[in-house]
Amino acid sequence: MTNHDTLQILNTEFETTYPQAVLQWAAETYGDRLAVVTSFQPTGIVTLHMLSEIAPKTPVLTLDTGLLFPETYAVMDELERRLNLNLIWVRPAQTVAQQAETEGANLWEREPDRCCNLRKTIPLKNALAGYDAWITGLRRDQSAGRRGVPIVSWDAKYNNVKLSPLANWTEEMVWTYIHAHELPYNTLHDQNYPSIGCYPCTQPAAPDALDKRAGRWSGHEKTECGIHISQGELAS
Ligand code: SF4
Repeated sequence: MTNHDTLQILNTEFETTYPQAVLQWAAETYGDRLAVVTSFQPTGIVTLHMLSEIAPKTPVLTLDTGLLFPETYAVMDELERRLNLNLIWVRPAQTVAQQAETEGANLWEREPDRCCNLRKTIPLKNALAGYDAWITGLRRDQSAGRRGVPIVSWDAKYNNVKLSPLANWTEEMVWTYIHAHELPYNTLHDQNYPSIGCYPCTQPAAPDALDKRAGRWSGHEKTECGIHISQGELAS
């Protein structure tokens, strides 16, 4: 088990190494207790490609809220085939129709935090209970709230080690990698969607938007689904 002091030392070392070295360390350290969590956005796609060459059997957890764009399901299917992913779908306890019966229709319009909690955070917490470490696609240049993302840290919310191997990469570096390896990506990015989540909560961004998560939860103060927020309560 990796203690907190060791993680801090590793974090400093990882700042000057390649993401592949971080992934290699994670695969050797955690073995089958390591998972990657992705919504198949550009950083996640790069991570999956690197991991397919380092530890191809690593479980790939993806949240299927039942409210994803057809383009998102298409790129998931394509990458699952091309990279031979060990894909595991994580789904909420209720379908969208069942949630409408118990919570009222379109919960995302009235209480997006509760909707994200029910459809994303709680299912992921349950899924991650079986793992000692998880890999994310967070990058520091994605938003003001992500500027301090460490490459490796203890995640008290999920009680495991959290890795963001591409934390210090830029958007340009990610796209360069995707094009260099001719990897498929969500075609909505070509229609001015910088960040893509559930369709009721994702809009195209203004062409000059600087925030790489612009277009998410438009009209609400919300900027994160809650998965990567370390404080805050999880409903039971
Ligand atoms: S992104 Fe929107 S629809 Fe999806 S779980 Fe969160 S609030 Fe619900």
